Amino acid sequence: MYIESLPSSLENRPFILIKDESVIEVSRQFSQMTEFNIEVLMSSSIHDIFRLLRVGPHVDMNDIDEQKVYFLFTKSLQVRFINIKVLQLFNRKVYIFCEKPNSNLDAKLPVVNALYLDNSQGIAIYSMPDMRLLKANDKYLGFNDKPFDVKENCIGRHISEFAEGFKGSNYEEIWKTVLKTGKPYILEEFEYKTLRRGTTYWKQSFVPVSEDNEIIYCVLMTTEITESVLKRRRLEEQVNMIKHQNKELEAVIENMSDAVFIVDKDNRFVLMNQEARNNYFDADTTKTLNDVLAFIKLMDADGKQLKLEEMPSYRALKGEKITNVRLNTERFGKQWVTDTNASPIYDDNGEIIMAVVSIRDMSKFIEKEKIIEQQKELLETIIESMNDAIMVYDKDGIPAILNAEARRMYPQIASTTLNGIEGEYEFFDLEGNPFTAEDFGTTRALKGENVRNARVVMKGIDSLHILEINVTPIFNNDKVVTSIVVTHRDITEKIMQQGHLLEVEREKSEAMEKAIEIKDEFLSVISHEFRTPLSVISTAVQAINLLCANDLTDRLKRYINIIRQNTFRQLRLVNNLLDITRADAGRIKIYKTNRDIVFLTRSIVDSVHTYAFQKGVRLTFASRVGEKIIGIDEEKYERILLNLLSNAIKFTPAGNFIEVKLRQVKKDIYIEVKDKGIGIPEDKIDLIFERFGQVDSSLSRQAEGAGIGLSLVKRLIEALGGSISVKSKIGKGSTFTIKLPKDKLQQAEEESAVTDSLDNHLVQVTKVEFSDIYL
Ligand code: ADP
Repeated sequence: MYIESLPSSLENRPFILIKDESVIEVSRQFSQMTEFNIEVLMSSSIHDIFRLLRVGPHVDMNDIDEQKVYFLFTKSLQVRFINIKVLQLFNRKVYIFCEKPNSNLDAKLPVVNALYLDNSQGIAIYSMPDMRLLKANDKYLGFNDKPFDVKENCIGRHISEFAEGFKGSNYEEIWKTVLKTGKPYILEEFEYKTLRRGTTYWKQSFVPVSEDNEIIYCVLMTTEITESVLKRRRLEEQVNMIKHQNKELEAVIENMSDAVFIVDKDNRFVLMNQEARNNYFDADTTKTLNDVLAFIKLMDADGKQLKLEEMPSYRALKGEKITNVRLNTERFGKQWVTDTNASPIYDDNGEIIMAVVSIRDMSKFIEKEKIIEQQKELLETIIESMNDAIMVYDKDGIPAILNAEARRMYPQIASTTLNGIEGEYEFFDLEGNPFTAEDFGTTRALKGENVRNARVVMKGIDSLHILEINVTPIFNNDKVVTSIVVTHRDITEKIMQQGHLLEVEREKSEAMEKAIEIKDEFLSVISHEFRTPLSVISTAVQAINLLCANDLTDRLKRYINIIRQNTFRQLRLVNNLLDITRADAGRIKIYKTNRDIVFLTRSIVDSVHTYAFQKGVRLTFASRVGEKIIGIDEEKYERILLNLLSNAIKFTPAGNFIEVKLRQVKKDIYIEVKDKGIGIPEDKIDLIFERFGQVDSSLSRQAEGAGIGLSLVKRLIEALGGSISVKSKIGKGSTFTIKLPKDKLQQAEEESAVTDSLDNHLVQVTKVEFSDIYL
């Protein structure tokens, strides 16, 4: 609703009508010019509309200058140049936008527009002097980082709002210069850093466009040249590198231990390294090859002096390539030997332009060669004179070194290969097994093995040798075998001698064994023969005691008792001797039956009570087990225990006591005979179980014996599958401990005991075993 109608002059003009800062009417022409729908424009504020249209360059809403040229951007961001006229109609305001004639940029700058559309260069048009972007193609915007790579975010804005780092940069200075001078400017290589693409390089042309002597636009034409710049830089770097390398090369040549020089085709020196200057040429006076011969004498190996044309450098200039020519050089009276190399240098057309020459002083090398040669000779002499045959073969079996012994042992060796020599003989190991080719030390060494002291029997047509062979492979740097060193030592005699010695040794020990056997046999026979008359005497004495007891006077009885006692002693000795001989020959026979070991032990201890009592020694028996049936040879056990008991009683003074204890620990039965007697010295303990081992003390001497008892006891216990040990302290007493396995016999295993002694009755046995102790 208008209170006042609009002036008719507004008809057909682009305007907007404002009341209280809000748009209340938009003309169709305005909508057409800006490409925005009327609805979009309505009911927003005048400020919003100016912002939407990006009106520029600077708009002071309270002071809009009718004369000034402003620009706005259509919806499709096309720039339009306008004058803005403001009419105040009471409480309303009319903004009339008069588009300038010829306002279309594209029409104004048709060439630029063509480039713009082509999009192969970045094209942008800025308004000047305010530097606001009026137009830019995708190529140009594409150079920017996000979000400034699209029109919406750049068009109408000041360059500093989207070009990173613009303010205060050299780039800004260029803009100012263009503005000031009004002249085009070409930025040849502009470095631009963006987040997205990193550092890139650009060529940019600034073309200012003036109207009425004032610069109103600046056209920017931008081409990316990153690739070509990088390429050029790489090239520059390479050039620098080559220059650097050249310098290094010069330094290397300068410092080489060989003398190096270059002469041009006019025989002039172009380069001379330090070694050349120091030892061959005087740099100040030596300018050409001709100068050289003035103070250096060059001679060939025969001492003939060289002329200019014969010098290696001269010949190289004539196209010859010279390698290792040995010359004698003399300068200031000093002579030395050199090896010279010289090569021509050609240009691109194949013309010789220079020659490069290197000279090596060989004097030291020759000196070293001489020493090596001497050492080699020495080594060869040593090898030649060694007692072993030494042969060095290459990998194909061709002989390289053969010493005198090798030539002597194998006369045809020099004229044949390894296979040839080995083929002439048959080889066996010391057991007589024939060798296959694989077994040969040489075959193994050729595969890299080190063969040490292999003993081999070598059989020829009419010879037989035993050899000790060593073969050592020699490897090259690639660890490949290149040759082998073979040594043969003839040990035939040594082995024969050893064999002989062994034979002698064997014969000796056989004789010894035989002697022992005869002695044992003899002992056995003698003992046996002793026993028969002893039994007769013993029986006779018993008969006298039994039959004539009443007829005997006390004196006679005493004599008979002495006879009986000594018969028992003799019998004991003979029994023991016989048994020990049997034991030594491994002929102890064991007859085990199942018996209660507790009962058996108690009975044996009881049977000797009288002897102990008589000696004034207390004898006790204690067992931790009530009854224990084990497989045992009763007779052997009696002998063992009686022996230990008789010793205990013998070596225990009156008033002391003897204890016999029986216990079971796990699988074994332990029987301990402990006395408080004289004890056994520590150094004799190991001796008492030896045959004839007696501790030589007055007391033990007093108690007679042959020193067989314990050795027999030990053997018997071992035959029963047990063992014996002793602990003793001199003056305190001894403890003998027997260990016996507690195994019971299966019924079938039981054999009836066959007693071997004269009389198997315990009392009788006891009498015999105790015959040392007078009753
Ligand atoms: P012998 O037949 O002389 O008795 P043995 O072999 O039985 O020989 O004993 C060897 C020696 O061991 C004895 O001569 C004695 O010196 C010593 N000997 C054996 N048992 C005891 C013991 N219980 N106390 C002290 N010495 C002993």
